[in-house]
Amino acid sequence: MKEVILIKNGELALKGLNRRNFEEMLVKNIRHRLTPLGKFSFTIAQSTIVAVPESEDIDMTAASETVSKIFGIAAFSRAAACEKDFAKILKCVEEYLEDELICAKTFKVLAKRSDKKFPMTSPEICRQAGGFILKKFPNLAVDVHSPEVTVNIEIRDDEAYIHARQIKGAGGMPVGSSGKASVLISGGIDSPVAAYMMAKRGLELSAIHFASPPYTSERAEEKVHSLLRKVAAYSGNIRLWVVPFTRTQEMIKDLCPEDIFTVIMRRMMMRVSQIIAKKEKSGALITGESVGQVASQTMHAIACTQAVCDMPVFRPLIGMDKDEVIEISRRIDTFNISVLPYEDCCTVFTPKHPKTRPSLSYAEECEKALPVDGLVSEAAQNARLVIIR
Ligand code: ATP
Ligand code: MG
Repeated sequence: MKEVILIKNGELALKGLNRRNFEEMLVKNIRHRLTPLGKFSFTIAQSTIVAVPESEDIDMTAASETVSKIFGIAAFSRAAACEKDFAKILKCVEEYLEDELICAKTFKVLAKRSDKKFPMTSPEICRQAGGFILKKFPNLAVDVHSPEVTVNIEIRDDEAYIHARQIKGAGGMPVGSSGKASVLISGGIDSPVAAYMMAKRGLELSAIHFASPPYTSERAEEKVHSLLRKVAAYSGNIRLWVVPFTRTQEMIKDLCPEDIFTVIMRRMMMRVSQIIAKKEKSGALITGESVGQVASQTMHAIACTQAVCDMPVFRPLIGMDKDEVIEISRRIDTFNISVLPYEDCCTVFTPKHPKTRPSLSYAEECEKALPVDGLVSEAAQNARLVIIR
């Protein structure tokens, strides 16, 4: 039996004039993401995108799993495709929905007819299909208000579709529809969640990771790759820049007071990140910061890091509690990777008594000991590109 996936647009439906562009972008994303599974063709009608596999050997369970992670989709259903002949439609209902119908107690039929040339009206389809189902499945009774199973019969231009179960989509907006941003990614719990949240708002992602070998190991970088692979299941491919940060950190350690060390390190990170982000044509940076979580994320410390940025910095976790962040990280399957015990460049150089209310003038004064411009351009130039799929 031929199966297709019926996809309902999410927030897109609200976007008036932009809607067509968004829809096209969504189709492009779906096509791109399904390509590794095989070739699909697409039609759009009545704010439903129909993904039709072009060969029989395509794994539709894997396809549905992939679709569940594409932003811009409110809901989707796997459906059987059938010739527009009522006898065949009934047979298809009986076979395709047998598993659902055989163990339920109540059902209803919902018919939609966008092909007005089809000889039966929607109420007729409901009545006759309902009668047929009652005869075939004596366990069932009709309940139009809260049925266990809703048998959907959609008569469209090309063919008829039969389905019973709608699955919630990933929501949000199609990746790329809001532009591109670069996420500062560590091996921690927060930054992968921040990346996921901004991809959900339609941003295409590139990523920047600061590594300080030999203080940080190759395995710490691999951990970042694994985290980004999980995010890429939602965002699509990510270009990751791995920035060598050892020299900068050692110089900060040697030349700056310990109590301002983290703030200066974060200012250096932001400066390097902006150079890379601009090269990537990103319009913003993304971090996993949350107010008050650690000394470097107090309002005062954030003010000090923000001061070196001339592009917007998106901090989607800013008002969230750690347990709220963890809940999302479990859902997107990054949590178990994030808690693996590899060192991060921040943790290696964490001072014992950081200032929680650093002033910008103090940070700027302390930074004068550093060759800031030289360090920043050296780090940006020596960044290494890894493509995460
Ligand atoms: P995370 O769980 O994301 O590591 P955190 O709570 O440990 O966050 P910090 O270590 O203070 O917080 O880092 C704050 C933010 O700075 C991170 O969310 C991330 O965006 C960025 N960041 C920290 N370390 C790195 C790194 N090594 N490379 C790139 N970005 C980093
Ligand atoms: Mg961290």
